[in-house]
Amino acid sequence: MHVGEIEPGLFFVTDMIYQSAFLVTGDGVVVFDAPPSFGERLLAAIEMSAPGVPITHYILSHKHADHNGGGFRLAEIDGVTVIAAEANADSLAETPLPGVPAPTQTFADSLSLEVGGVPIELRTAGFHFADTDVLIHLPQQRFLMAVDTITPGEAPFMNFGGTSDVRGYMAAFDTFLAYEFDHFLSGHVSILGTREDVEIARDYAFDVRDTVARLWPGFMDRFMANMELTEFKNGNLAYRMTMEQVRDDCAGEIRERWEARLSVVDLWADSHCETMVLHAIMH
Ligand SMILES: [Zn+2]
Repeated sequence: MHVGEIEPGLFFVTDMIYQSAFLVTGDGVVVFDAPPSFGERLLAAIEMSAPGVPITHYILSHKHADHNGGGFRLAEIDGVTVIAAEANADSLAETPLPGVPAPTQTFADSLSLEVGGVPIELRTAGFHFADTDVLIHLPQQRFLMAVDTITPGEAPFMNFGGTSDVRGYMAAFDTFLAYEFDHFLSGHVSILGTREDVEIARDYAFDVRDTVARLWPGFMDRFMANMELTEFKNGNLAYRMTMEQVRDDCAGEIRERWEARLSVVDLWADSHCETMVLHAIMH
């Protein structure tokens, strides 16, 4: 596990798959997310970085057990305030998740707090679409946390992280970039992101969208050619062939433009193009 002090008192923690952070103040330690894969090591890392300083706050970026299933260890500590969005607290009360503790303080849309003189700004968002997320901003440390969003250094995961809301996905970049920040914690991969990583992720997503849009005018001609090829016997097959041709042409362009800038473009570019092809058909 890697623990690094990115700004005075602000620590970034990763086991190379998951990420969390904690802030050491004069009044206590504030923890942001507790992945179960960290286990006891998160508490050990805090104790090593800030010996004798009590943990006073634990803030959940969202309710998923893979990012906060280690939170029960923090909730057990005397005097710890567990903070989450009201919507997350409601859904946890209805469907408890293993290791994710019940919040003791909730908020509807936003919450500003100050711990040991350090301002912490929380605001709800919706990157998981079906679930509520919390954007965590530390203005003094120029730190923004938005979990399960971009993958710094890498192309996005399959089908843009399996998003069911392409419009919401594309709009999220502006939401992030409206904040003042230098450090961006996205919850995954081994490295912390920067403002530039958010801009690169935005440019990649918009390039895929624009590439499909450029190829789109030829869609019907290709479809008719494929209908002829299949002797007008199988419209679904002809449509599928057309979608795959557009997807593959798009993926070829994307790989050429992005392989040198991001890793795993070769693995996922076709899935990103497919997502945008489907979006173009459906909208
Ligand atoms: Zn995740």
